[in-house]
Amino acid sequence: MLANLGETAAGVRELAEAYRRGYREQSRLVRLSDRMQADLQRANQRLSAQQRTLQSLNEVLSSEIEHRIRLESELRRLADTDPLTGALARRRFLEVCEHDWGRRENGPCCLMMLDLDHFKRVNDGYGHAAGDAALVAFVAACRANLRPADAIGRLGGEEFAILLAETGLEAGRGVAERVRAATAATPVATPRGPLAVSVSVGLVEEQPGERFEDALKRADGALYAAKHDGRDRVRIGPAPDAPGTA
Ligand code: GH3
Ligand code: MG
Ligand code: MG
Repeated sequence: MLANLGETAAGVRELAEAYRRGYREQSRLVRLSDRMQADLQRANQRLSAQQRTLQSLNEVLSSEIEHRIRLESELRRLADTDPLTGALARRRFLEVCEHDWGRRENGPCCLMMLDLDHFKRVNDGYGHAAGDAALVAFVAACRANLRPADAIGRLGGEEFAILLAETGLEAGRGVAERVRAATAATPVATPRGPLAVSVSVGLVEEQPGERFEDALKRADGALYAAKHDGRDRVRIGPAPDAPGTA
């Protein structure tokens, strides 16, 4: 009986000891879990902060990219445009012509070369600033007679060229004559009085299979003829195999 009691007491002690160990282990696990949760929370906070930083870096980057795209297109526009007159710069004009030339689906193009007459005298008599104003007015007069699909370029100095899209010779002659007449009829106001300028024009119509540079040479020849014949006039370049000028 006593032996049984002793065994029972030992069993109870063992049970109590096991219970204490269990309780300690449970407490340790609860503390561990609390610590892990706190670590997790801190890691989450760090992640959120990093996400916010990344987001604002992304915004800075996007607006920087937008700024660069705008800057690039502005630089391209500046490089493509003559700053004084707004006409296409020589290189860009020739690019446009090379691209449009030979696309005869809707008929040929006409090409004009234009050179202001006695412009050296204009500068000498009225000053360089008045000469500049005359160049600006000249391009405006051209533009008033062109369609959006046409292109005007400043080849250099007081020399310009115009590509008339899908335009036959007779219509081209009409445009060239209107540009010439508008230039002569629109004097520029200067401190030394009104300044009248005139322009000589060489005009050619695109020939089947003709290279653009060959048409440019023909237009230059026609311009030379217009100068030679007394200036302030339009001359038409003959077709490559036809004799004489019109
Ligand atoms: P022509 O009738 O034979 O064409 O005679 P021209 O005097 O116009 O020809 P020339 O080539 O001898 O002179 C061109 C003049 O154009 C000389 C130059 O000072 C002037 N010029 C060129 N570019 C500009 C410019 O941007 N502004 C001004 N004001 N003058 C310019
Ligand atoms: Mg000239
Ligand atoms: Mg010239």
